[in-house]
Amino acid sequence: MSELLVVGGGIMGLWAARAAAQRGMTVRLVDGKGIGSGASGGLLGALMPHMPDRWNAKKQFQFDALVTIEEEIAALEAQTGLSTGYRRTGRLIPLPKPHLRDIALRHEEDARGHWRAADRQFHWHVKDQGPEGWPGAEAAAHGMVFDTLAARVSPRRMIAALHAALLHAPNVRVDEGRGVRRIEPEHGRAELDDGTRIDFKHCIIAAGVGSFQLIDAVSMPLAGTSGTAVKGQAALLRAEIDPALPVIFADGVYITAHDDGHVAVGSTSENSFADPLSTDEQLDDLLRRARMLAPRLAGAEVVERWAGLRPKATGREPMAGRHPDHQNVSVLTGGFKVSFGIAHRLARFVVDEIAGLPSIDIPDSFFCRNHMAALR
Ligand SMILES: Cc1cc2nc3c(=O)[nH]c(=O)nc-3n(C[C@H](O)[C@H](O)[C@H](O)COP(=O)(O)OP(=O)(O)OC[C@H]3O[C@@H](n4cnc5c(N)ncnc54)[C@H](O)[C@@H]3O)c2cc1C
Repeated sequence: MSELLVVGGGIMGLWAARAAAQRGMTVRLVDGKGIGSGASGGLLGALMPHMPDRWNAKKQFQFDALVTIEEEIAALEAQTGLSTGYRRTGRLIPLPKPHLRDIALRHEEDARGHWRAADRQFHWHVKDQGPEGWPGAEAAAHGMVFDTLAARVSPRRMIAALHAALLHAPNVRVDEGRGVRRIEPEHGRAELDDGTRIDFKHCIIAAGVGSFQLIDAVSMPLAGTSGTAVKGQAALLRAEIDPALPVIFADGVYITAHDDGHVAVGSTSENSFADPLSTDEQLDDLLRRARMLAPRLAGAEVVERWAGLRPKATGREPMAGRHPDHQNVSVLTGGFKVSFGIAHRLARFVVDEIAGLPSIDIPDSFFCRNHMAALR
């Protein structure tokens, strides 16, 4: 019997399996379609802080996560010898209107107060100019913000590195190709798609958009579902852009220069869609806006178009921790648009809670029990 069954091999499930393995637990990770086959197998990989104003527990949690991810990734890369494509490039936000500059100047002050770690200070600089054509002069008519906290990672390399680390861990078994169709907490058992049963001492549901069905099924009656899917489309361009350049963010468009001569552009945000994995004219429009923002991308060839489903918990916040109806089930999902920056820390919290050895806090609004209470 596995001590811990992790359902889902996306960014959430992989960090959870790693944290549990490091605690010495026997782990079985099951993914129905394959490691990284969900939203985590995408292209963008922007690790973007929340705004530094109106500080709260959620912003502090994300800040701590964005600071600590550096050492987590360094350890992972050293262990596996694989690059995750991580770099703290910072982010540029063009300011097209004068009043946006005034607001940005206030945020400069906010960042000085809140973006402070033990031995490091991160900034929200308001600047007149940035790198040539990154972003273009028209978009940045009133300057731009350069935030030094944002970073980027290659989603697929990150997933590959976490996967590789698990394959080398003697106490971890990774099963791909058969999903979990039912969890029976009262028997400490999960049933796979082919009817095979797996016993567990504890189970973590980290199945991205597939989590919500599993959570709803093991929950006492809820007024609605625990979460939904929000589709996103993104594209990868071949472009010889300096990979040290910051992520550009403006009006929902992200442009991320990666290490390997590619630039990712994202993302649409679609609450209704006919086909979850197709790309269409909404992506064409996004690419058009990206090229206006960053004229350096003018002639860059599109080499991949991609779509995926983001897990959004009802109430929007991530959902983590022990399920209130079952001592032996925990939840780790709902990262929506920011999972890559927070998954390692949320996973650490969930595993610590199972082990009874808490080391970090999460905001009240993240707790699974509070999500469930709001749905009753
Ligand atoms: C276009 C786009 C751009 C994005 N850009 C960013 C970004 O720049 N930065 C960022 O932080 N986030 C970004 N996101 C969001 C991010 O990708 C997701 O929040 C994150 O990948 C979710 O990870 P996850 O592990 O919760 O789920 P997933 O990655 O979806 O993984 C879930 C896994 O569970 C498996 N599974 C599902 N059901 C079952 C079952 N019943 N049994 C077994 N296995 C099951 C699936 O096969 C899948 O592999 C973006 C998303 C999209 C779509």
